[in-house]
Amino acid sequence: MNSSAEKSTNAVPPDPADDAAFAGRVESAIAVLSPDALGAVCRHAEAEYPEECCGTISGSGVRPSVNVCREGGGAIDARRTFELDAASAVAVAQSAEDSNGVRIVYHSHPDGPAVFSETDRRAAAPAGRPVYPHLCHLVIACTGGRVSQVSLYAWRRDEYVRVASWARAALQRVVAESDAD
Ligand SMILES: [Zn+2]
Repeated sequence: MNSSAEKSTNAVPPDPADDAAFAGRVESAIAVLSPDALGAVCRHAEAEYPEECCGTISGSGVRPSVNVCREGGGAIDARRTFELDAASAVAVAQSAEDSNGVRIVYHSHPDGPAVFSETDRRAAAPAGRPVYPHLCHLVIACTGGRVSQVSLYAWRRDEYVRVASWARAALQRVVAESDAD
């Protein structure tokens, strides 16, 4: 489809289109991550502690999801993993075609770091490629029931990289000042 027909299996030269796509998805994610949205996901994480919260953020705001793992009768531990509910999963699936659709999937790590874990990476990119490369992932560290750090990850070339991070002091200010509705 493009002109770079001669691709070596090793040391593929950086493709400027990859970097442009990366910049575009970061810009789209930051655009939907208003202070109110950031405050809302922090409150969600604290409300669900010690379980993982999850949800989506689009241009129309934050949509908290039920963590379906909680409804599994304990077979899967909602304190250690998450799964979006059906409505959120549909919204995610439709988002690639919709410029106003979901741009961020968020979830919390109760008493864990704000790091996109190996488990998270495998879920988002099961065969080493993201199912939804346009989506960014927001990870909320919730330590002892209080949000302590939030990090945003985006797909770049061949891996998820951290593109933004908020520390506890900034988050407490955002939570206090954002609209609680
Ligand atoms: Zn995680």
